[in-house]
This record gives sequence, C-alpha cells and structure tokens, in this order.
Amino acid sequence: MTSAPLRLRLDGDALVANWRALATLSGGAACGAAVKADGYGLGACGVASRLAAAGCRDFFVATWGEARALDPLGVAVSVLHGLREEDVAAARASKHARPVLNTVDQIRRWRDAGGGACDVMVDTGMNRLGIGVADVAAGLLDGLRIETLMSHLVSADEESPLNARQRDAFAALRGVTGARRMSLANSAGIALGRDYAFDLTRPGISLYGGVQSPVLAPHIRQVVTPQAQLLQRRRVPAGQTVGYNATWTAAADTQVATINLGYADGYLRCFSDRGLARAGGVAVPVIGRVSMDLVAIDVSAAPDVAEGDWITIDYALPETAARTGLSQYELITGLGDRFDRIWS
Ligand SMILES: *Cc1c(COP(=O)(O)O)cnc(C)c1O
Repeated sequence: MTSAPLRLRLDGDALVANWRALATLSGGAACGAAVKADGYGLGACGVASRLAAAGCRDFFVATWGEARALDPLGVAVSVLHGLREEDVAAARASKHARPVLNTVDQIRRWRDAGGGACDVMVDTGMNRLGIGVADVAAGLLDGLRIETLMSHLVSADEESPLNARQRDAFAALRGVTGARRMSLANSAGIALGRDYAFDLTRPGISLYGGVQSPVLAPHIRQVVTPQAQLLQRRRVPAGQTVGYNATWTAAADTQVATINLGYADGYLRCFSDRGLARAGGVAVPVIGRVSMDLVAIDVSAAPDVAEGDWITIDYALPETAARTGLSQYELITGLGDRFDRIWS
C-alpha cells in the first residue's frame, strides 16, 4: 500500500512515560487506561500493546466492538456502556472483556445470562450512566461477582465542591458491596489527590498528552503530532486572495504552500487564519479558510521548503484547545482515518 500524504507521528516513549507518571501520582492504586474511541484516535491496539508491555493491566472501552478489537492482545477490558440484549452473546463468549453494568435492566440481563465477573457503575452525581447509591443499599448487587465498583467525576478538571461530595458518597460504599476494587478517578481526578485514587485509576486524555490540571502539567508529554505533505508552493502577488470566499488578502507578495490536510481529517474550520505549523524549523501560519482536504500556509519565512516536504502542525493539546476553543478531547479524537499512524 502506498503511504498517505498525511501522517500522525505517535511518540510511544511519551505515551509510556505519561502512563508511568499517572501511575506514580495514583499512589498505591493500580493505574489503568481508557482506550475507547480507538485509543482516543491513536489506534487502540497500538496504545494498549505499549501500555500492557509497560505493566498496565486494566483497559476501558465504550462498546463490545471496541473490546473485540483488543481481543488479540489478551488484556483485561471493561466495557463502559454495559450490556444491551444484543451484547449478551459477545459478552458471554469473551475471554478478556467484562461489562460495566449501569442499569437495573443490565444487571438482571447479566444474572439471567449466567453472570460471571463484571464491573458496576454507580452514579454519584453525573446523572449519565450508573445505578443509584440507594439501589446499592437496597441490595441490587447482592450475589454479583463484582471486580470493580466505579463512579465517574463530574468536574474533576475544576475546583468544585462536587468533587469532594462525589468522593465521599463513593467512599461510603466501601465494604457495602462484594467488589474487589473501587475506582473513581479519570486523568484530572488523579490530580485531585490520593484520596480520589481508591484502588484503580482510569486515565484517558492525559495518557495522550492532554493536560487539564496544573498538577499534571509538569508530568505530561505531547504524544500526537500531525504532519502533512506540501502539494504546491506558489507566489501570491500583493492584493490577491487565498482560498474559499477570499477571506485572506496578501498585503505583500507572499509565498504560499498548499498542504494535504483539511476539515475532513479533523482539522476543523476554526483553524482558519489561526492554525500554526512548522516548516524547515520556522513557524508558519495558516492563512484563509481551511478546506475539506487542503490548508494554505504562509511559508515566506521558509524559503527552502518545497513540494513533497512534510509540514508539522502545531497540535500540543492544551495550547491548541486554548487557541481554537475546541476541547482537548475533540482535538484528538477527531483526527480521521486518512492519517497514517506511525509510532516511534
Ligand atoms: C473516558 C472515561 C475515562 C477517562 O477520562 P479522561 O478524562 O480522558 O481521563 C474514565 N472513566 C470513564 C467512565 C470514562 O468514560
């Protein structure tokens, strides 16, 4: 197969270093990895195989299809969206994956199917997925073989009284169920302190370079760097415009490069006149509208950059989110299928 004219450079050392840092910050708790949405867009198998080799033992996906993709690795997978009727056969057949049961119906369905090891999500304030604390007290979980009892934080990335309230509501469940372990913290939750780590943490975004807490900033390295190939370089005379709707006008003669990247690749229109890239070691700005498959950059400062050269897109998640208004999650999970994904 020929290589694509755009690629994601994926730094395997940085991924593993981020996981190790998060594991250290988790104290005595085990540190897992959220690899849903195809490893936040990096490729779930590439991520999970590297983290498993580093010692990670607990992986989290959204659906049974995502669990199946990890089957060849033989790692333990928790399926966060639980167990629909359509999932029962796959769940019973799976050697490595177990459901995270979220509702009264899901629990009944799992029991009726014969049960086995499972996880359970308890809602302590998100009002999204999970059974209620009162359901636990009423004995809903009695007799279930629960590996991990979980809850999920609403505002871990902010200073909010909700954090301590959820932590305390969750801590009150310790010993109430037969669960072997308890798990509350995502990436930002780990930064809240050891009393949020319980027995197992579930970071996602910070494994991949996302930083949502000043506590994590010194520990987290960039993992994903998009690069696009230069397709054409031209001189645009002063007064002429570049791109759809002529939103950018050359104030002086300008060297313009058109590169193989666009909003269909997840490089959204909010980068128009705002994105940054590097060519030949110098910073070069995006000019005009981002097209579906193409972006124009001003390469006047990079005289030697030519057709076929690779342009590196500035994509550090915290800075790029601040510049565009997109969330760090949207930035990373939106990167599309047309990128070659290349680990180093
Ligand atoms: C996605 C997810 C995580 C990981 O969250 P990050 O903010 O990416 O660290 C952890 N737990 C649950 C239940 C999730 O859905």
